[in-house]
Amino acid sequence: AKGQGRNTWQWYRGQRVEKNRQTLALRQDLYTALKEQQFEMHYQPLVDSLSGRLRSVEALVRWRHPSRGMVSPCEFIPLAEQTGQIIPLGRWILQQACRDMVDFSARTGHDLPVAVNISSLQFLRDGFLEDVKHTLAESGLSPMLLELEVTESVLLDGAEPVIELMQTLKAKGIRVALDDFGTGFSSLSYLRDLPTHRVKLDRSFIQAIETDHRMAAIVQAVITMAHNMDMSVVAEGIESLELQQDLARRHCDLLQGNYFARPMSLADLKVLPSLLPGN
Ligand code: C2E
Ligand code: CA
Ligand code: CA
Ligand code: CA
Repeated sequence: AKGQGRNTWQWYRGQRVEKNRQTLALRQDLYTALKEQQFEMHYQPLVDSLSGRLRSVEALVRWRHPSRGMVSPCEFIPLAEQTGQIIPLGRWILQQACRDMVDFSARTGHDLPVAVNISSLQFLRDGFLEDVKHTLAESGLSPMLLELEVTESVLLDGAEPVIELMQTLKAKGIRVALDDFGTGFSSLSYLRDLPTHRVKLDRSFIQAIETDHRMAAIVQAVITMAHNMDMSVVAEGIESLELQQDLARRHCDLLQGNYFARPMSLADLKVLPSLLPGN
């Protein structure tokens, strides 16, 4: 039994060494990935909770790694944040999303708002506002069609600069949504001061409400509170009709999840049937 314990330990240690090696390699590969055009943007629909109609999309980055295939953003976004690569990558993501939506409007005749995830590092960096203005001007996308998603980790170094930037963005017609709401370090109190127009409830919250009545109470309270502060609410991770109905009953405004549509390429988004008039 003793020998076996040791083998198990060595196996775990081997796994960890292998994992570290892969992470190092991946981090290295990030440096060339942008230049070699290995990233692509996918778009996931957000629908009206009552009608199920398409209202906007969230832009989600994908990495088509030459030998590893698709790598999840959960894996490479943190690495890009560690190396600073998130700055050029984030800039590319914003540009691509804006260009794609201009293309979408031209092809379909529909204007579709797009929500772009912005890493806290990117949001707080000097020059971010200039980047956004430049990207809008260059792409020709209306500021009204751009929404930025930030998580509450932008508040880690203090709320003042964040509030100021959000106010400036708002004055330019660019809205900011608070992503992964409730999963972070603080929660309710700072909402009062942040000029955000929308909160997004994380799927870990949403998927728990069917079995956890306390979680359901929290979700309900957030929806009511957000509405009282003139904010709208998005629920992520809707995977069933039951969840859609439950959240519609709770007056959640917008829903997102695999039950409606998975993230898809721009080409697929352009021919989405629910976009057709009368749907
Ligand atoms: P997030 O911002 O919370 O994005 C929502 C994630 O939930 C996406 O995962 C989406 O594919 C997934 N999802 C949506 N509906 C469902 C569902 O019904 N069931 C399940 N199981 N999952 C669902 P994804 O695309 O893998 O992205 C993971 C995270 O990586 C994102 O979480 C975000 O934090 C980050 N990320 C993705 N794209 C970007 C980006 O362009 N920039 C930055 N900075 N971060 C990004
Ligand atoms: Ca998001
Ligand atoms: Ca997130
Ligand atoms: Ca989330």
